Amino acid sequence: MINRIFTDTIDRKFVGKEITISGWVDTVRDHGGVIFIDLRNMTGKLQCVFDVAGKDKEFKKLSESIRPEWVVEVKGVIRERPPESVNPKIPTGEVELLVGEFKILNRAKNLPFYPDDSVSEELRLKYRFLDLRSQKMRRNLLAVSRIMKITRDYFDELGFVEVPTPMLTKSTPEGARDYIVPARLKPGCFFALPQSPQLFKQILMASGIEKYYQIVRCFRDEDTRGDRQPEFNQIDLEMAFAEKEDVMDVVWGLVEKVFNEFAVKFERPAILDFEDAIKMYGTDKPDLRIKISPLKDISEIFKNTGFEIFKKQITQGNPVVCFFSNKNFSRSELDELVKVAKEEGLSGLLWIKKEGDSLKSPATKFLREEEIKALSKIYEAEGTIFVVAGKSAFFEAGLVREKISQMHGLREEGFYPLWIVNAPLFELDKDGKITSVHHPFTAPVGDIFNQDPLTLKSLAYDLVINGVEIGGGSIRIHSSDIQKKVFEILGMDEKQYSEKFSFLLRALESGCPPHGGFAFGLERFVAILFNLPSIREVIAFPKTQNVQCLLTDAPSPVSEKQLKELSIKVDI
Ligand code: ASP
Repeated sequence: MINRIFTDTIDRKFVGKEITISGWVDTVRDHGGVIFIDLRNMTGKLQCVFDVAGKDKEFKKLSESIRPEWVVEVKGVIRERPPESVNPKIPTGEVELLVGEFKILNRAKNLPFYPDDSVSEELRLKYRFLDLRSQKMRRNLLAVSRIMKITRDYFDELGFVEVPTPMLTKSTPEGARDYIVPARLKPGCFFALPQSPQLFKQILMASGIEKYYQIVRCFRDEDTRGDRQPEFNQIDLEMAFAEKEDVMDVVWGLVEKVFNEFAVKFERPAILDFEDAIKMYGTDKPDLRIKISPLKDISEIFKNTGFEIFKKQITQGNPVVCFFSNKNFSRSELDELVKVAKEEGLSGLLWIKKEGDSLKSPATKFLREEEIKALSKIYEAEGTIFVVAGKSAFFEAGLVREKISQMHGLREEGFYPLWIVNAPLFELDKDGKITSVHHPFTAPVGDIFNQDPLTLKSLAYDLVINGVEIGGGSIRIHSSDIQKKVFEILGMDEKQYSEKFSFLLRALESGCPPHGGFAFGLERFVAILFNLPSIREVIAFPKTQNVQCLLTDAPSPVSEKQLKELSIKVDI
């Protein structure tokens, strides 16, 4: 019989009522003649009491045999617990079920661990069915489900339409490798699994679906890291006639709804230029929780310095960058930080303690009077100035700043969202080739036909929360001429871009409205919400770092027959 009552709602109101409830045995406590089990199911936990007195032999034998993780159905009357056994930690903690009858529906044997045990992730993934029974995993999966529901309600109210887009499609350039699927009926040809529905959602704008959204599976074959998975869900949206602010408002409206649902403390989003973010935080994903001053370029102070380390950098045209914390670090803490900076591969970290007007640092004896004076004037308060010099000084200073905040708890509680806008349209990749910072469909700011491409900005906006990018989007190009020009700048000739994108160009030429959109990683969002180390904690059946499913052992070889049908020969 299915569970009709939500277990967590069983409280004093139920006293005297007879109910039937099924679930797993969470714990068993045998008090000799009276056996207590905590019965656990998807909607909560309930203490059940097996009082053997007056029951038949079978009842006694069976109830004594019950073990954790067995599956049982119990029927009985809800009664109040005696005051000394009330458990305020669970919603059902004031009551218990006195078992009248019960059935053992299934037994569990040879379990390698129990659901809430702390065991290796490998074991957890291999026996995911046990792991998913844990409180934490149940909470995470329920949160994902809840957010999907909130998302659908939210977009529905705003008049958005959810349109499913193909899984078997043509490759879209989101920057990762494609997963490809052989096409049996067109030997030698392949579908790609979508990295995102980017082009389809743009086509939907040309199709007159003015407001589109979809909770959609995306696939990217890239090296997995803590927050990446080869397949994940995206909350994807696109709006016709939209300007940047329209999209940002709609996206924020949803984030706010989710934050409110989970009753977390959050700030309204700040907006920061990409370039300013790099200058102030050394990253385009700043964590605004950090209670340490932003970075400051202090190269000017050292332009005539005699301090060798800085002199060398300044003469090479590299910056000297500092930041400040009003924490009074001890000498050993500072030594530790210098050590950590080295371990992180940084060129060096200098600290200067500011006490009143005087500065203390291993470097002060090498600095000139006016340098010391200028340094002591940058920050009014007493505390510690940290200095990094070199070609990557901003980036490196950003890293140590973050590390220091982590090691010393210099962070606010709650969620600090931030929009990063005005990112460059293009950048050079490691081979010196021009690539898109976002994707090739992002609208440029500036004159794409006459300006140096690397000086163009874009109408993109990324949403960063607590130092993690949870999503990004842009106003798109809706003129085929500009789109073609972007393809050319990216190194494609007419033949190449027509082969790949003629359907998009045709759609843009068909009377396509101006449009823009956004997408955010659903699992990443939940991971941030619960401060989880990895999005694997939010995905029921995730892949490992080397892209394997330990539960099913996928990927695995296929039969010769299957390969033959697909006209595929494997050559390893
Ligand atoms: N398609 C983009 C992505 O998946 C997001 C967007 O521009 O809407 O990253």
